[in-house]
Amino acid sequence: MPQTHSFDLLLRNARLRGGQGLQDIAVRQGRIAAIGPDLTGTAALEEDAGGRLVLPGLVDTHIHLDKSCLLCRCRDAGGGLKGAIAAVSGLKRAFTVEDVYQRGARTLERAITQGTMHMRAHVELDPLVGLRSFEAMMRLKRDYAFAIDLSVCVFPQEGMTHDPAVEQLLARALAEGADLLGGCPYTDADPSLQMERIFALAVAHDVDLDFHLDFDLDPTWSHLEEICRRTVAAGWQGRVAVGHATKLAAIDDAALERMIALLAEAGVGVTALPSTDLYLNGRDQTHRAPRGVAPVHLLADGGVTVSVATNNVLNPFTPFGDGSLIRMGNLYANLMHLGPERFGDCLDMVSTTAARLMRIADYGIAVGGQADLIVLDADDEADAFGGIATPLMGFKRGRKSFVRPAATLVR
Ligand SMILES: [Zn+2]
Repeated sequence: MPQTHSFDLLLRNARLRGGQGLQDIAVRQGRIAAIGPDLTGTAALEEDAGGRLVLPGLVDTHIHLDKSCLLCRCRDAGGGLKGAIAAVSGLKRAFTVEDVYQRGARTLERAITQGTMHMRAHVELDPLVGLRSFEAMMRLKRDYAFAIDLSVCVFPQEGMTHDPAVEQLLARALAEGADLLGGCPYTDADPSLQMERIFALAVAHDVDLDFHLDFDLDPTWSHLEEICRRTVAAGWQGRVAVGHATKLAAIDDAALERMIALLAEAGVGVTALPSTDLYLNGRDQTHRAPRGVAPVHLLADGGVTVSVATNNVLNPFTPFGDGSLIRMGNLYANLMHLGPERFGDCLDMVSTTAARLMRIADYGIAVGGQADLIVLDADDEADAFGGIATPLMGFKRGRKSFVRPAATLVR
């Protein structure tokens, strides 16, 4: 006779952020059923966190799986952002579904074993690549659903308003299951028209929006105000995010205050992509080069929903990347001169507030919440974040989804 258990998973001796003492976490049917010291009951799977820090699965709000792992095909990024776009554009025609799937899977598996459990993948659609990258992404979404919720955001990297075929591709992808829509006005011949059409498409398909925006350090023009205005006009507050927005690093304090108030009022979220932003911005300076990363912690202080995310991995936009969001948050804190008193805020940007930006329901370690849990090889928050602790294991909806044993010395 099969034994009946009161829980599917009992994770014992977990240290929670801001909590006192060690807690057990009990999971039933993918949800957290109880949290407390020395819980009684039996479970189909019982694991001991050994006093280590347990976090909810991390959230990567902005990554390009379709063009990751391309360093072996093109190494040169000497041309900055324009050069990187041109380099990948030259390769895209040869992308096959299988090729995108294999490279995407490699990056996805790295991210999963670094503790990421929710991800928004930005996928390029245009006549060069057609729907092949999108098709690969939908396969990845299905095949890795045991470990990660992949949200597919389709967008026109190469411009949209010059060719009606681009909008048709976007509409087709939305009809075939894309989760949301992105935009990239700065590469469009008519940026304002692109924003108008993208908002109209989003409203027609009832999907959220995530724009690549204001990705340079020229403070004399910006698309951010127009995005805020269109967000309010469409009634899309809380459903629009922008990535990069690095112009926010190049304006004075008074202008920044004004933009923070506008973004908070319009409910537009902002994602900093420190690895790419640092690598591509400020290349015209030979010394005292600016960092060129949006100061999203200041935006968060002003009530804006913010995240820090990966963007590109091992390609001409960013020839770096191991999929670790804790490393990315750590990089952000390091470059913004943020010490341990703000480590918790930076951890939020790859977990709690990132989840808010993606409107993930029931996120976090609380009774009734989704049982997405990772165990880090650290016994407190400051050590985990400052020391870029390794995730040792993860549970997606209460089911073990990866293990990553700690390194051991062999004397
Ligand atoms: Zn991007």
